[in-house]
Amino acid sequence: MRCEVIAVGTELLLGQIVDTNSSWIGERLALGGIDSLHQTKVGDNHDRIVACIQAALERSDAVLMCGGLGPTQDDITRDAIAEVMGVELRRDPDLVSMIRAMFESRGREMPANNELQADVPEGAWIIEQRRGTAPGLICPIGPAGASGHSAQVIYAVPGVPYEMKEMVERAIIPDLHARSGETAVILSRTLRTWGESESGLAERIGPRLEALDVTGNPTLAFNASGIEGIKVRITAKASDVAAAHALLDEEEALLRGMLGRLVFGVDAQTMEHAVGTLLSDAGLTLGLAESVTGGIVASRCTDVPGASAWFRGGVVAYDTAVKLDLLDVADGPVVSEEAAAAMATGARTVLGADVGLAVTGVAGPERQDGEPVGTVIFGLDLAGEVSTRRVQLPGDRDRIRQFAAISLVDHLRHRLLDRLADPAGG
Ligand code: ATP
Ligand code: MG
Repeated sequence: MRCEVIAVGTELLLGQIVDTNSSWIGERLALGGIDSLHQTKVGDNHDRIVACIQAALERSDAVLMCGGLGPTQDDITRDAIAEVMGVELRRDPDLVSMIRAMFESRGREMPANNELQADVPEGAWIIEQRRGTAPGLICPIGPAGASGHSAQVIYAVPGVPYEMKEMVERAIIPDLHARSGETAVILSRTLRTWGESESGLAERIGPRLEALDVTGNPTLAFNASGIEGIKVRITAKASDVAAAHALLDEEEALLRGMLGRLVFGVDAQTMEHAVGTLLSDAGLTLGLAESVTGGIVASRCTDVPGASAWFRGGVVAYDTAVKLDLLDVADGPVVSEEAAAAMATGARTVLGADVGLAVTGVAGPERQDGEPVGTVIFGLDLAGEVSTRRVQLPGDRDRIRQFAAISLVDHLRHRLLDRLADPAGG
């Protein structure tokens, strides 16, 4: 099944909107085992939209269009599809009533323009709208074959991402599967890593990548996600859900064996989630002292549901006087191992936590305490055992602060894992 995507909207061409719809659809099609071969963007111009659809139908079985289904003059996707199909648009009175009811349920009267959204090319089916007003369309191209399906099809969904995604999931992916006769289940799982480059990861799992190149199932893909680390996605295809899960489990175990502690979580699990779990399991609580990150770490920790079980709180000790007065840091350079260690112990004491974690450093633009921009020092007081670590981070101010935050939490993760591996600490 070859499918392609056409995103409609002049604002996409002018760079006013980034075409995230096509990326999302591309990923969703790949996950559904549907070949996705071209993506096109076209402005709100009738002739050019028609030409795009015709070109797509020359080479693909299915064309998925998004945008241009609204009620205004520049929303002309319906007209273009009707022209390609060689049919008229018919106003569907039931749809008009549904759209009117949608407005009334929100306490508004339907503007006359919205009746346009009830125009359906003859011979097309609608995809009922559940989140907005414009319904989607399923437009058969050519007569139905022995399977009951037309040889080709055009789908149209609204441009609003929240409406588009719901329709693609509910109606289009199943329709594509029914057309292709595809019954396999495709599932994916993402291993989240921190501390190694993409090429470094590829090297570690090189032999496995080569083996999978031959078998083709499951497949692996890398996705560098900035401060969220590098994601390794496993995609498995099987006859049913249980078999697909079994393949994912087996591959995850293999990869974890090769990557070890580089893997901090799976799917939506963040670094803070991983550390929160380690802390809860050990019955430990955490207190923070942040200078250079100004509360980013505390904010990320409190993003984790149930964080109150292990997160006591944090002190944003930005000004030197706060470090000295509140955290009992001795007078001297505040970007130093001594200051980081004292901040960690200060946080642990002031916040009544088992673990004190601190970060100080230079995000720029100026050097500080004789240290260059990008110098970041972690302090850790793990139940009385105090240590520090110095790192040099690249990038601008924002990037340094973000990387400092996640690297700090990763530092604690490693120390907690060390402790688990060797509880005696010797
Ligand atoms: P509506 O009924 O809201 O008018 P529509 O089908 O006409 O829907 P558009 O007018 O093309 O859709 O787009 C509506 C909004 O959806 C845009 O303003 C934009 O915010 C978002 N949008 C449209 N196309 C895309 C796209 N390809 N990627 C991301 N967002 C998009
Ligand atoms: Mg519109």
